[in-house]
Amino acid sequence: MNAVGRMAAGVAHDLNNVLFAIMGLSELLAPILPSGSKEAEYVGEIHAAGERAAKLVRQLLTIARRQPARVEIVDLNLLVGNLATFLERITGKAVNLSTRVAQSPARVKADPGQIEQVLMNLAINARDAMPEGGKLDISVDVIHLDEDEAFSQLDLQPGDYAGLGVSDTGCGMDKETLARVFEPFFTTKPPERGTGLGLTTTYGIVRQYGGAIHVYSEPGRGTTFRVYLPLTPEMEEAAKAAAAPAPQPGGTVLVVDDEEAVLRVVGAMLEEMGFAVLTATNAEAALECCHRQSPRLTLIVTDLVLPGLSGWDLATRLRRDYPHTPVLYMSGFANNMIFRDAEMGPLESYLEKPITPRALKEKVNELLGRASR
Ligand code: ADP
Ligand code: MG
Repeated sequence: MNAVGRMAAGVAHDLNNVLFAIMGLSELLAPILPSGSKEAEYVGEIHAAGERAAKLVRQLLTIARRQPARVEIVDLNLLVGNLATFLERITGKAVNLSTRVAQSPARVKADPGQIEQVLMNLAINARDAMPEGGKLDISVDVIHLDEDEAFSQLDLQPGDYAGLGVSDTGCGMDKETLARVFEPFFTTKPPERGTGLGLTTTYGIVRQYGGAIHVYSEPGRGTTFRVYLPLTPEMEEAAKAAAAPAPQPGGTVLVVDDEEAVLRVVGAMLEEMGFAVLTATNAEAALECCHRQSPRLTLIVTDLVLPGLSGWDLATRLRRDYPHTPVLYMSGFANNMIFRDAEMGPLESYLEKPITPRALKEKVNELLGRASR
């Protein structure tokens, strides 16, 4: 996985620059070609293809950028408890979610954002496997694995582990699918739904902490993923227990992203924080919505890379009507030309995908804090 990660990072950075040339030049070319001509149409298609490739690169970078940012002691019991309502929102009404936590603390040493990512990836896959609805059970256990169990299936050291189980009653998987689930880019979903990187990322995160994943699935009956992470001894005090409850800011947030999954997930996170959420899949639709409804916006959250006008252009246009509303940009293109720290105003900030509830909450509170000063 490490070698794959490094290679992915290298390829992704190089590809990024190539794509920038393709997209940048086709943008320059478009306005000087007669509109409606074959040439203009081809250039439009080149640009669209560049955008699709950019999306893939962004996904690759998220796998590659896997080093733990902040390792602390995380109690899976608390983490699951804190995310339960949020997970309920992303899985929707048709899915019946139940959670069960362990009797004793299930403490592991990890970056909490990454463990949230693991849980989200598994829950979203479970939701996708149950389009007609079903049951989703999330459980936390503390388990001792002896030599046999640890070794035979899981390739782990014997010892104490925190177990995270995610079980669905969805479509399940046949043997061929099951054998490939952790493979980069392996997906059985249409391109706008699946990237085939969710489980690759999940696997990378879990392995990095010395853990393992076990999958059990039967076609037509459902799937159970079990994640094992080494338990941290009781003696080590949890740095801070649950995150302090954030102030309930309220108000309306506009969220713009062309990926429906991102809109739904980020929208759910913001609703969880107490905001009303307006969504749009491109800048033009966002402008149109603001024009029509003139909402009072507490915050604007937008992807930087959008089809048509960019997130940056959108913010510039909205600035006229919303001079005091902070803007949070989301993107995977941290080191990109389109994004320059120096150009960020005091009411602007930036968050890298994939976005986790914790990172979003911190950023939003920081921005709103600045805005209220
Ligand atoms: P993606 O969700 O983008 O397709 P993942 O890496 O998350 O990528 O999953 C890869 C594939 O594994 C999915 O396309 C699906 O075929 C299969 N899969 C994962 N989780 C489940 C599940 N809970 N039930 C059935 N199939 C699943
Ligand atoms: Mg997935």
